[in-house]
Amino acid sequence: MVQTINRHRFVIDGKGITTLVGLYGCPLQCKYCINRDVLSSGRFRELTPEKLAQTLMIDFCYFIATGGGVTFGGGESLLYAEAIREIKAFFPPAVCINVETSLNVPTEVLESVVDCLDSLIIDVKSMNPEIYRRYTGISPEKTYQNLKWLCEHKLQSKCRIRIPIIPEFTTEQEVQQTREGIEAMGFEDIDVFQYKVFG
Ligand code: SF4
Repeated sequence: MVQTINRHRFVIDGKGITTLVGLYGCPLQCKYCINRDVLSSGRFRELTPEKLAQTLMIDFCYFIATGGGVTFGGGESLLYAEAIREIKAFFPPAVCINVETSLNVPTEVLESVVDCLDSLIIDVKSMNPEIYRRYTGISPEKTYQNLKWLCEHKLQSKCRIRIPIIPEFTTEQEVQQTREGIEAMGFEDIDVFQYKVFG
């Protein structure tokens, strides 16, 4: 279920020129979610993997020329792991397939799709379980378990870890602790960024 398709993005969500496909639905309820209205209103288009791949193919030359590709975001992109795997099959290997994810999905889901992904952009929120729970409304257990799984399978180099500074939820010290925890797991591509709160 596709909410949005944003074309011609440059090095924002993956290498080269990318198309960002926003998918509907998310298990989290982040306090400052900028997508919540869209997620709750159910404004989306249902497309088969084949039809979506055909739609995305319009930028094939850009992808090939820049080493870019398609990034699935959301919502939670991994709710559509099976469809992402099917879409990957429509593109040659040179077209990158990336996901933006909170990783808060069962490990079997991650396992089912990780080999066809070129990169995972993971918003971990916080490695402090209490802060995570307070901010998202759910347990971080699956996210932490999946980070561990990625380490055990030596897949850290496929991952960019995003750590938000969340107003009223995280302090500088807690963000630093999250960063150190992530570094200790062997992840090297780490992006600490400030959440912007609107309204
Ligand atoms: S993970 Fe993203 S889409 Fe889901 S509730 Fe949080 S901010 Fe919104």
